[in-house]
Amino acid sequence: MNTFQAPKGTYDLLPPDSAVYLAVREAISAPLKNSGYGYIETPGFEDVELFARGVGESTDIVTKEMYTLTTKGGSELALRPEGTASVLRAALEANLHKAGNLPVKLWYSGSYYRYERPQKGRYRHFSQVGAEAIGAEDPALDAELIILADQAYRSLGLRGFRILLNSLGDKECRPVYREALQGFLRDLDLDDETRRRIEINPLRVLDDKRPDVRRQLTDAPKLRDYLCEACRAYHAEVRDLLTAAGVAYEDDERLVRGLDYYTRTTFEFVHDGLGAQSAVGGGGRYDGLSEMIGGPALPSVGWALGVDRTVLALEAEGITLQLPPATSVFAVPLGEEARRLLFGVVTELRRAGVAADFGYGGKGLKGAMKNANRSGARFTIVAGERDLAEGVAQVKDMESGEQKPVPLDALVADLTARLV
Ligand code: ATP
Ligand code: MG
Repeated sequence: MNTFQAPKGTYDLLPPDSAVYLAVREAISAPLKNSGYGYIETPGFEDVELFARGVGESTDIVTKEMYTLTTKGGSELALRPEGTASVLRAALEANLHKAGNLPVKLWYSGSYYRYERPQKGRYRHFSQVGAEAIGAEDPALDAELIILADQAYRSLGLRGFRILLNSLGDKECRPVYREALQGFLRDLDLDDETRRRIEINPLRVLDDKRPDVRRQLTDAPKLRDYLCEACRAYHAEVRDLLTAAGVAYEDDERLVRGLDYYTRTTFEFVHDGLGAQSAVGGGGRYDGLSEMIGGPALPSVGWALGVDRTVLALEAEGITLQLPPATSVFAVPLGEEARRLLFGVVTELRRAGVAADFGYGGKGLKGAMKNANRSGARFTIVAGERDLAEGVAQVKDMESGEQKPVPLDALVADLTARLV
């Protein structure tokens, strides 16, 4: 019979590497948990219309990348391609915004799905950790999120990332800019698809990576020159707060999220060791999104960081995370009686909080010692008939190689003490 393979564009997380992913998720979420963000979990799929409206009909995500399905009951669903729309949907549905405690600050961690052309750093199934602060307009909130992401990356030892920052204006000044930009773009030499984009989503054209398009964009009108006074002041405050926090950023005029409900602060974290897939995370303010999906006006800001690309960034910088060993003590029983006795010791060690494992399957000393070595355990307990007759087990320090007999009834206390 044929064996199966993981679907194209996906990969499995297996030990020992999977421990790195867990640690990355933990490192990204730790600063959030420490800053008033509560954990939220939403379904892996939603009404397709939520994403069509909440992510935007004109985006690549909605037009090309969504996994959609019709259920047996006739519902049109989509596997979630991103987190923000779902989180806002859930918050609105549960009336979290009416509890009188704005902003509602939430964080999430999970799997996302996009039908993309697979390549390094770009998969069809990937992981994000994200944060959303819903229902407040305050430059300190924008700054907080950027600072927490910076803290998360730094806690992993990453140094080769940069923060790109821009302001997209608001519903007062953006439309004026949009029109000026359209006027400029319509005179350029562009293909039909890009021409259509000018009419639907002109800011996205600024994001075009093709050299012949880029060349023509040099003299495009700049959003910065069109920002209204309120947006200008807001952006200046975000920048001042970041600077005061010692977080370095770069102004990037070209950084756009072309959708109408993205407003003001927008940012991206890029890593220079990742080649084409350089964005490790991104986010910004989305003051219009709530109304877009049927809610009240709720100015909000958030980000999502890609776990897969963060792991690639660690590799690019040659960083090995200092992870606690999976197993601290490995017990090797030689014979029936030792098996029963050491299994009891292992159970006791585990209950005392010591990571312990056991030589299963009656392997004999050589095979079991191989398992003990592979487990990475600091100490191995070996006991055979002769040891038991003397009321001891042999405890071997795998680092120094030193071995000594320890009375059976003192094993747990002895090992617990030596491991702290
Ligand atoms: P890109 O420009 O690389 O396509 P994006 O703008 O689509 O990124 P976002 O929607 O902002 O990405 O998602 C936030 C983060 O999620 C990205 O910075 C990236 O780290 C990660 N991410 C997005 N799409 C993928 C994917 N297909 N595979 C792996 N990680 C991804
Ligand atoms: Mg993308």
